[in-house]
Amino acid sequence: MENSFKAIVINKSDNTPYCAKLDTVSLNSLPDNDVKIKVLYSTLNYKDGLAITGKGPVVRSFPMVPGIDLVGEVTSSANAEFKAGDTVVLNGFGVGEKHWGGLAEQASLSADWLIPMPNELTAKQTMQIGTAGYTAMLSVIALEKQGITPESGDILVTGANGGVGSFAIYLLNKLGFNVVAVTGRPEQSDYLTKLGAKQILHRDEFSNPGKPLAKERFAAAIDSVGSHTLANICASLKYGGVVTACGLAQGMDLPASVAPFILRGVSLIGIDSVMRPKADRIEAWDRLSKLVSVDYLDTISNEINLTEVLSSADELMAGNIRGRVVVNCQS
Ligand code: NDP
Repeated sequence: MENSFKAIVINKSDNTPYCAKLDTVSLNSLPDNDVKIKVLYSTLNYKDGLAITGKGPVVRSFPMVPGIDLVGEVTSSANAEFKAGDTVVLNGFGVGEKHWGGLAEQASLSADWLIPMPNELTAKQTMQIGTAGYTAMLSVIALEKQGITPESGDILVTGANGGVGSFAIYLLNKLGFNVVAVTGRPEQSDYLTKLGAKQILHRDEFSNPGKPLAKERFAAAIDSVGSHTLANICASLKYGGVVTACGLAQGMDLPASVAPFILRGVSLIGIDSVMRPKADRIEAWDRLSKLVSVDYLDTISNEINLTEVLSSADELMAGNIRGRVVVNCQS
């Protein structure tokens, strides 16, 4: 094995302004974790875009290798759970924020953060799904655990053209739910219909301050937007309705009233994918591996290599990318 590897490296110090570049790094510089990995694929998530461009306070220490998710082959392991040759998946756990991440040819990670890659998927397919698909699956499972079924009624999905929203529409439709998509890009309606949306609403209907209680319309919702949108969803759920909240694309605030909770028994379920226990991760990836068809993955993703990551991060932050960006870390 060579004694250096390529990685996107973010630096900042008293003398150096915030800067990300493709660099060559000594293998000896890898963090001292128990599983060493040859990274096969990573992805560009919104959080990676913030980290690379410096537009959000994602990176907690420098130098940092970004990349919050990856699939890789174990090259050596000091932990009995994994051995050389195993293919593993990583989502979250502060990787790419406070631990060196996936946008590199090599990584060194804790066995506690890793799960085996599902047998039914290839490394590329697993990252085509990535953290967005995994978070959407966790959201769908949360609705199921609250007793929501296709017979319950319509399910609203916000941020429909985003990574989480697109996967949520696709997965819910596959499971037989009637999906209503909310988007600010109605010109993408054909794409959303192909994913499985049966009705498409404009996001303006939800994004402004609304009443504490509105007409009961939806049995459940998967929200990645927050703010007034989430407040209006709570107000529009039917008696006993459920909404999952995973994101803040509109805002971090939640300007809601307690009326839907105390008068209609509505439930608001928080979804965190980053620190999720291993058993939940394995359940979600197992469900994804059985539900997602390969054809779908090819229509929603675009492959790049490490040399294209910086320009793609700029495009992502400019809102010019639809679907998932998969990074081949060995090409
Ligand atoms: P994307 O950027 O891919 O998608 C976000 C979507 O939200 C956009 O495509 C857009 O959809 C919609 N949107 C954007 N701006 C606004 C706005 N001002 N008001 C209403 N809708 C808006 O992000 P992801 O899908 O990857 O992630 C979505 C959110 O979930 C992010 O906040 C992310 O940080 C969070 N997240 C949280 C996780 C967790 O563990 N809790 C894990 C993964 C993501 P459209 O064009 O259709 O309107």
